[in-house]
Amino acid sequence: MKQVDGEKLLASLGEGVSQLRGRLTPDAPMDRVTWFQAGGLAELMFQPHDTDDLVAFLKLLPEEVPLTVVGVGSNLLVRDGGIQGVVVRLSAKGFGQVELAGENRIRAGAICPDKYVAAMAMDNGIGGFHFYYGIPGSIGGAVRMNAGANGGETAARLVEVDVVDRKGNVSTLSNAEMGYSYRHSSVSENLIFTSAVFQGYPEDKAKIRADMDAVRHHRETVQPIKEKTGGSTFKNPDGHSAWELIDEAGCRGLMIGGAQMSALHCNFMINVGHATGYDLEYLGETVRQRVFEHSGIKLEWEIRRIGGFMPGSEVKPFMGTVSA
Ligand SMILES: Cc1cc2nc3c(=O)[nH]c(=O)nc-3n(C[C@H](O)[C@H](O)[C@H](O)COP(=O)(O)OP(=O)(O)OC[C@H]3O[C@@H](n4cnc5c(N)ncnc54)[C@H](O)[C@@H]3O)c2cc1C
Repeated sequence: MKQVDGEKLLASLGEGVSQLRGRLTPDAPMDRVTWFQAGGLAELMFQPHDTDDLVAFLKLLPEEVPLTVVGVGSNLLVRDGGIQGVVVRLSAKGFGQVELAGENRIRAGAICPDKYVAAMAMDNGIGGFHFYYGIPGSIGGAVRMNAGANGGETAARLVEVDVVDRKGNVSTLSNAEMGYSYRHSSVSENLIFTSAVFQGYPEDKAKIRADMDAVRHHRETVQPIKEKTGGSTFKNPDGHSAWELIDEAGCRGLMIGGAQMSALHCNFMINVGHATGYDLEYLGETVRQRVFEHSGIKLEWEIRRIGGFMPGSEVKPFMGTVSA
Protein backbone atom coordinates (compact mmCIF):
# COMPACT_ATOMS: atom_id res chain seq x y z
CA MET A 1 0.00 0.00 0.00
CA LYS A 2 1.44 3.36 -1.09
CA GLN A 3 1.67 5.94 1.73
CA VAL A 4 3.05 8.86 -0.31
CA ASP A 5 2.00 10.73 -3.48
CA GLY A 6 5.05 12.11 -5.22
CA GLU A 7 3.29 13.23 -8.42
CA LYS A 8 0.95 15.44 -6.39
CA LEU A 9 3.84 16.98 -4.44
CA LEU A 10 5.80 17.58 -7.65
CA ALA A 11 2.81 19.28 -9.30
CA SER A 12 2.39 21.52 -6.24
CA LEU A 13 5.89 22.95 -6.69
CA GLY A 14 4.80 24.80 -9.83
CA GLU A 15 6.50 25.83 -13.07
CA GLY A 16 9.83 26.72 -11.40
CA VAL A 17 10.89 23.07 -11.34
CA SER A 18 11.40 23.14 -15.11
CA GLN A 19 14.43 25.40 -14.55
CA LEU A 20 16.16 22.85 -12.30
CA ARG A 21 19.04 20.85 -13.75
CA GLY A 22 18.96 18.00 -11.24
CA ARG A 23 16.74 14.92 -11.31
CA LEU A 24 13.32 14.79 -9.65
CA THR A 25 11.87 11.33 -8.99
CA PRO A 26 8.37 10.99 -7.53
CA ASP A 27 7.77 7.87 -5.36
CA ALA A 28 11.45 6.91 -5.33
CA PRO A 29 12.10 3.40 -3.92
CA MET A 30 14.44 3.77 -0.94
CA ASP A 31 15.31 0.06 -0.96
CA ARG A 32 17.49 0.93 -3.97
CA VAL A 33 19.33 3.57 -1.96
CA THR A 34 19.96 1.91 1.40
CA TRP A 35 22.53 -0.78 2.14
CA PHE A 36 19.81 -2.77 3.89
CA GLN A 37 17.86 -2.84 0.60
CA ALA A 38 14.66 -2.43 2.57
CA GLY A 39 12.11 0.29 3.25
CA GLY A 40 9.35 2.27 1.53
CA LEU A 41 9.18 5.11 -1.01
CA ALA A 42 10.46 8.66 -0.77
CA GLU A 43 7.60 10.94 -1.81
CA LEU A 44 9.89 13.02 -4.04
CA MET A 45 13.63 12.57 -4.48
CA PHE A 46 15.76 15.44 -5.74
CA GLN A 47 19.33 14.92 -6.93
CA PRO A 48 20.74 18.42 -7.44
CA HIS A 49 23.22 19.00 -10.23
CA ASP A 50 25.36 21.34 -8.10
CA THR A 51 25.07 23.77 -5.17
CA ASP A 52 23.32 26.48 -7.24
CA ASP A 53 20.73 23.93 -8.35
CA LEU A 54 20.19 22.82 -4.74
CA VAL A 55 19.74 26.43 -3.64
CA ALA A 56 17.24 27.09 -6.46
CA PHE A 57 15.24 24.02 -5.45
CA LEU A 58 15.15 24.93 -1.75
CA LYS A 59 13.90 28.41 -2.61
CA LEU A 60 10.99 26.79 -4.48
CA LEU A 61 10.14 24.37 -1.69
CA PRO A 62 7.37 25.52 0.68
CA GLU A 63 8.52 25.60 4.31
CA GLU A 64 5.94 23.06 5.44
CA VAL A 65 7.23 20.29 3.14
CA PRO A 66 9.46 17.97 5.20
CA LEU A 67 13.04 17.63 3.93
CA THR A 68 15.40 14.71 4.51
CA VAL A 69 18.96 14.40 3.22
CA VAL A 70 20.62 11.04 2.61
CA GLY A 71 24.12 10.03 1.65
CA VAL A 72 24.75 6.54 0.28
CA GLY A 73 22.41 4.93 2.83
CA SER A 74 24.96 2.85 4.74
CA ASN A 75 23.61 3.96 8.11
CA LEU A 76 19.89 4.18 7.34
CA LEU A 77 16.85 2.09 8.16
CA VAL A 78 13.90 3.40 6.15
CA ARG A 79 10.49 2.41 7.50
CA ASP A 80 8.00 0.70 5.18
CA GLY A 81 5.50 3.57 5.11
CA GLY A 82 8.10 5.66 3.28
CA ILE A 83 9.32 9.23 3.68
CA GLN A 84 6.91 12.16 3.43
CA GLY A 85 8.13 15.23 1.56
CA VAL A 86 11.45 15.57 -0.23
CA VAL A 87 14.56 13.43 0.03
CA VAL A 88 17.72 15.16 -1.22
CA ARG A 89 20.44 12.88 -2.51
CA LEU A 90 23.50 14.71 -3.82
CA SER A 91 24.69 13.81 -7.32
CA ALA A 92 28.16 12.35 -7.78
CA LYS A 93 28.80 14.77 -10.64
CA GLY A 94 28.23 17.89 -8.56
CA PHE A 95 29.33 16.72 -5.11
CA GLY A 96 31.66 13.75 -5.61
CA GLN A 97 35.02 15.43 -6.16
CA VAL A 98 38.10 15.16 -3.92
CA GLU A 99 41.18 17.42 -4.19
CA LEU A 100 44.16 18.80 -2.30
CA ALA A 101 43.36 22.10 -0.57
CA GLY A 102 46.71 23.26 0.89
CA GLU A 103 49.40 21.75 3.09
CA ASN A 104 48.19 18.29 4.19
CA ARG A 105 44.63 19.44 3.55
CA ILE A 106 41.93 17.74 1.52
CA ARG A 107 38.60 19.08 0.29
CA ALA A 108 35.92 16.52 -0.53
CA GLY A 109 32.40 16.84 -1.89
CA ALA A 110 29.71 15.52 0.42
CA ILE A 111 28.82 12.47 -1.71
CA CYS A 112 32.49 11.52 -2.18
CA PRO A 113 33.05 8.04 -0.69
CA ASP A 114 35.15 8.12 2.51
CA LYS A 115 37.57 5.63 0.99
CA TYR A 116 38.47 8.06 -1.86
CA VAL A 117 39.61 10.55 0.82
CA ALA A 118 41.73 7.82 2.39
CA ALA A 119 43.22 6.98 -1.02
CA MET A 120 44.00 10.62 -1.87
CA ALA A 121 45.65 11.06 1.53
CA MET A 122 47.78 7.96 0.97
CA ASP A 123 48.82 9.04 -2.55
CA ASN A 124 50.02 12.38 -1.13
CA GLY A 125 51.67 11.14 2.07
CA ILE A 126 49.01 12.70 4.32
CA GLY A 127 48.43 10.83 7.58
CA GLY A 128 45.29 10.61 9.72
CA PHE A 129 42.77 9.27 7.18
CA HIS A 130 43.40 5.50 7.04
CA PHE A 131 40.25 4.88 9.14
CA TYR A 132 38.10 6.19 6.28
CA TYR A 133 39.31 3.29 4.16
CA GLY A 134 36.99 0.90 5.98
CA ILE A 135 33.85 3.04 6.29
CA PRO A 136 31.52 2.53 3.32
CA GLY A 137 29.66 5.87 3.62
CA SER A 138 29.98 9.29 2.00
CA ILE A 139 31.69 12.37 3.43
CA GLY A 140 28.31 14.03 4.14
CA GLY A 141 27.28 11.00 6.21
CA ALA A 142 30.65 10.98 7.96
CA VAL A 143 30.38 14.67 8.85
CA ARG A 144 26.84 14.17 10.20
CA MET A 145 27.58 10.94 12.10
CA ASN A 146 31.12 11.82 13.25
CA ALA A 147 32.04 8.54 11.58
CA GLY A 148 35.10 6.87 13.02
CA ALA A 149 36.97 3.61 13.38
CA ASN A 150 40.41 2.20 14.13
CA GLY A 151 41.29 5.03 16.51
CA GLY A 152 40.32 7.86 14.13
CA GLU A 153 37.16 9.93 13.80
CA THR A 154 35.83 12.71 11.60
CA ALA A 155 35.81 15.31 14.40
CA ALA A 156 39.58 14.98 14.74
CA ARG A 157 40.22 15.80 11.06
CA LEU A 158 37.46 18.21 10.03
CA VAL A 159 38.41 21.88 9.57
CA GLU A 160 35.16 23.26 8.15
CA VAL A 161 32.08 22.25 6.19
CA ASP A 162 30.05 24.11 3.57
CA VAL A 163 26.32 23.90 4.24
CA VAL A 164 23.03 24.95 2.68
CA ASP A 165 20.12 25.57 5.04
CA ARG A 166 16.42 24.83 4.50
CA LYS A 167 15.83 28.27 2.96
CA GLY A 168 18.73 27.93 0.50
CA ASN A 169 21.28 30.08 2.37
CA VAL A 170 24.90 28.98 1.89
CA SER A 171 27.44 29.24 4.72
CA THR A 172 30.50 27.55 6.25
CA LEU A 173 30.65 26.01 9.73
CA SER A 174 33.87 25.46 11.65
CA ASN A 175 34.67 22.22 13.44
CA ALA A 176 33.82 23.89 16.78
CA GLU A 177 30.34 24.78 15.50
CA MET A 178 29.56 21.13 14.66
CA GLY A 179 28.91 20.19 18.31
CA TYR A 180 30.63 16.83 17.99
CA SER A 181 30.40 13.91 20.41
CA TYR A 182 30.61 10.13 19.87
CA ARG A 183 28.90 9.36 16.51
CA HIS A 184 26.92 12.58 16.78
CA SER A 185 26.83 16.21 15.67
CA SER A 186 24.38 18.57 17.32
CA VAL A 187 23.91 20.90 14.32
CA SER A 188 20.41 21.22 12.86
CA GLU A 189 19.09 18.20 10.92
CA ASN A 190 17.88 20.69 8.32
CA LEU A 191 21.38 21.53 7.12
CA ILE A 192 22.67 19.93 3.94
CA PHE A 193 26.46 19.53 3.88
CA THR A 194 27.88 20.07 0.41
CA SER A 195 31.66 19.76 0.94
CA ALA A 196 34.20 19.61 3.74
CA VAL A 197 37.87 20.42 4.34
CA PHE A 198 40.06 18.09 6.40
CA GLN A 199 43.50 18.51 7.93
CA GLY A 200 46.04 15.70 8.12
CA TYR A 201 49.77 15.56 8.81
CA PRO A 202 52.83 14.37 6.88
CA GLU A 203 53.30 10.60 7.05
CA ASP A 204 55.26 7.95 5.21
CA LYS A 205 53.23 6.48 2.35
CA ALA A 206 54.29 2.91 3.11
CA LYS A 207 53.09 3.31 6.71
CA ILE A 208 49.73 4.68 5.52
CA ARG A 209 49.39 1.80 3.02
CA ALA A 210 50.12 -0.72 5.79
CA ASP A 211 47.51 0.91 8.09
CA MET A 212 44.93 0.82 5.29
CA ASP A 213 45.68 -2.84 4.57
CA ALA A 214 45.26 -3.61 8.27
CA VAL A 215 41.88 -1.82 8.28
CA ARG A 216 40.72 -3.85 5.26
CA HIS A 217 41.95 -7.14 6.67
CA HIS A 218 40.27 -6.48 10.03
CA ARG A 219 36.93 -5.65 8.34
CA GLU A 220 37.01 -8.69 6.11
CA THR A 221 37.72 -10.91 9.11
CA VAL A 222 35.26 -9.66 11.73
CA GLN A 223 32.43 -7.85 9.92
CA PRO A 224 29.74 -9.12 7.52
CA ILE A 225 30.71 -6.46 4.96
CA LYS A 226 29.32 -8.39 1.98
CA GLU A 227 25.84 -8.60 3.54
CA LYS A 228 22.96 -6.13 3.33
CA THR A 229 23.67 -4.29 6.57
CA GLY A 230 23.80 -0.85 8.19
CA GLY A 231 27.05 -1.28 10.13
CA SER A 232 26.94 -1.05 13.92
CA THR A 233 23.30 -1.11 15.00
CA PHE A 234 23.84 0.37 18.46
CA LYS A 235 26.37 2.80 19.94
CA ASN A 236 28.85 1.44 22.48
CA PRO A 237 27.55 2.52 25.91
CA ASP A 238 30.17 4.14 28.18
CA GLY A 239 32.58 1.47 29.39
CA HIS A 240 30.93 -1.34 27.37
CA SER A 241 30.96 -2.89 23.90
CA ALA A 242 27.50 -3.14 22.39
CA TRP A 243 28.37 -6.47 20.75
CA GLU A 244 29.42 -8.02 24.07
CA LEU A 245 26.15 -6.98 25.73
CA ILE A 246 24.19 -8.37 22.78
CA ASP A 247 26.15 -11.61 22.87
CA GLU A 248 25.72 -12.02 26.63
CA ALA A 249 21.97 -11.45 26.24
CA GLY A 250 21.85 -14.39 23.81
CA CYS A 251 21.03 -12.35 20.72
CA ARG A 252 23.86 -13.44 18.41
CA GLY A 253 22.13 -14.86 15.32
CA LEU A 254 18.64 -13.86 16.59
CA MET A 255 16.21 -13.64 13.68
CA ILE A 256 12.85 -11.95 13.11
CA GLY A 257 11.30 -12.30 9.65
CA GLY A 258 14.11 -11.63 7.17
CA ALA A 259 16.26 -9.72 9.69
CA GLN A 260 19.07 -11.23 11.74
CA MET A 261 21.75 -10.16 14.22
CA SER A 262 24.83 -11.34 12.37
CA ALA A 263 26.49 -14.45 13.75
CA LEU A 264 29.85 -13.00 12.65
CA HIS A 265 29.49 -9.61 14.37
CA CYS A 266 26.41 -9.52 16.56
CA ASN A 267 26.09 -5.70 16.65
CA PHE A 268 25.54 -5.82 12.87
CA MET A 269 21.96 -6.39 11.74
CA ILE A 270 21.58 -8.02 8.34
CA ASN A 271 18.83 -8.45 5.80
CA VAL A 272 19.08 -12.14 5.00
CA GLY A 273 16.69 -12.02 2.07
CA HIS A 274 13.45 -10.14 2.13
CA ALA A 275 13.51 -8.22 5.41
CA THR A 276 11.10 -5.31 5.70
CA GLY A 277 11.86 -2.13 7.62
CA TYR A 278 9.45 -3.56 10.21
CA ASP A 279 11.46 -6.80 10.60
CA LEU A 280 14.70 -4.86 11.06
CA GLU A 281 13.36 -2.37 13.59
CA TYR A 282 11.39 -5.02 15.52
CA LEU A 283 14.54 -7.11 15.76
CA GLY A 284 16.53 -4.09 16.99
CA GLU A 285 13.95 -3.26 19.67
CA THR A 286 13.80 -6.90 20.75
CA VAL A 287 17.57 -6.89 21.20
CA ARG A 288 17.34 -3.65 23.21
CA GLN A 289 14.79 -5.29 25.49
CA ARG A 290 16.81 -8.46 25.98
CA VAL A 291 20.00 -6.52 26.69
CA PHE A 292 18.15 -4.33 29.18
CA GLU A 293 16.69 -7.32 30.97
CA HIS A 294 20.07 -9.04 31.07
CA SER A 295 22.37 -6.14 31.97
CA GLY A 296 20.19 -3.17 32.93
CA ILE A 297 21.78 -1.16 30.07
CA LYS A 298 19.62 0.61 27.49
CA LEU A 299 21.31 0.43 24.11
CA GLU A 300 21.00 3.52 21.92
CA TRP A 301 20.48 3.14 18.17
CA GLU A 302 23.45 4.23 16.03
CA ILE A 303 21.58 3.44 12.82
CA ARG A 304 19.30 6.28 11.77
CA ARG A 305 15.66 5.23 11.46
CA ILE A 306 13.64 7.47 9.15
CA GLY A 307 10.19 7.55 7.55
CA GLY A 308 6.79 6.39 8.76
CA PHE A 309 5.37 3.01 9.72
CA MET A 310 2.75 1.21 7.68
CA PRO A 311 -0.55 1.63 9.52
CA GLY A 312 -1.00 -1.30 11.91
CA SER A 313 2.71 -2.21 11.77
CA GLU A 314 4.18 0.26 14.24
CA VAL A 315 7.30 -0.74 16.15
CA LYS A 316 7.38 0.56 19.70
CA PRO A 317 10.56 0.85 21.79
CA PHE A 318 11.37 -2.32 23.75
CA MET A 319 8.48 -4.22 22.13
CA GLY A 320 10.06 -7.61 21.67
CA THR A 321 9.22 -10.43 24.05
CA VAL A 322 11.98 -12.11 26.00
CA SER A 323 10.62 -15.52 25.19
CA ALA A 324 10.46 -14.95 21.40
C1 LIG B 1 29.56 -2.60 6.54
C2 LIG B 1 29.46 -1.27 7.27
C3 LIG B 1 30.49 -0.89 8.11
C4 LIG B 1 30.42 0.34 8.79
N1 LIG B 1 31.45 0.70 9.61
C5 LIG B 1 31.42 1.90 10.24
C6 LIG B 1 32.50 2.32 11.09
O1 LIG B 1 33.48 1.62 11.29
N2 LIG B 1 32.41 3.54 11.69
C7 LIG B 1 31.35 4.37 11.49
O2 LIG B 1 31.34 5.48 12.05
N3 LIG B 1 30.31 4.00 10.71
C8 LIG B 1 30.31 2.79 10.07
N4 LIG B 1 29.26 2.42 9.28
C9 LIG B 1 28.07 3.29 9.18
C10 LIG B 1 28.10 4.29 8.01
O3 LIG B 1 28.96 3.86 6.97
C11 LIG B 1 28.55 5.68 8.50
O4 LIG B 1 27.69 6.18 9.50
C12 LIG B 1 28.58 6.68 7.34
O5 LIG B 1 29.22 7.86 7.77
C13 LIG B 1 27.21 7.03 6.81
O6 LIG B 1 27.37 7.70 5.57
P1 LIG B 1 26.26 7.59 4.44
O7 LIG B 1 26.69 8.39 3.29
O8 LIG B 1 25.94 6.16 4.15
O9 LIG B 1 25.04 8.29 5.19
P2 LIG B 1 23.51 7.82 5.24
O10 LIG B 1 23.43 6.47 5.86
O11 LIG B 1 22.88 7.99 3.93
O12 LIG B 1 22.95 8.90 6.28
C14 LIG B 1 23.38 8.88 7.62
C15 LIG B 1 23.03 10.23 8.25
O13 LIG B 1 23.83 11.24 7.65
C16 LIG B 1 23.01 12.28 7.15
N5 LIG B 1 23.63 12.79 5.93
C17 LIG B 1 24.14 12.08 4.89
N6 LIG B 1 24.62 12.91 3.97
C18 LIG B 1 24.42 14.17 4.41
C19 LIG B 1 24.67 15.47 3.88
N7 LIG B 1 25.24 15.65 2.68
N8 LIG B 1 24.30 16.55 4.60
C20 LIG B 1 23.71 16.40 5.83
N9 LIG B 1 23.44 15.20 6.37
C21 LIG B 1 23.79 14.09 5.66
C22 LIG B 1 21.65 11.65 6.90
O14 LIG B 1 20.61 12.60 6.97
C23 LIG B 1 21.58 10.64 8.04
O15 LIG B 1 21.14 11.28 9.22
C24 LIG B 1 29.30 1.19 8.60
C25 LIG B 1 28.28 0.79 7.73
C26 LIG B 1 28.35 -0.43 7.08
C27 LIG B 1 27.23 -0.82 6.15
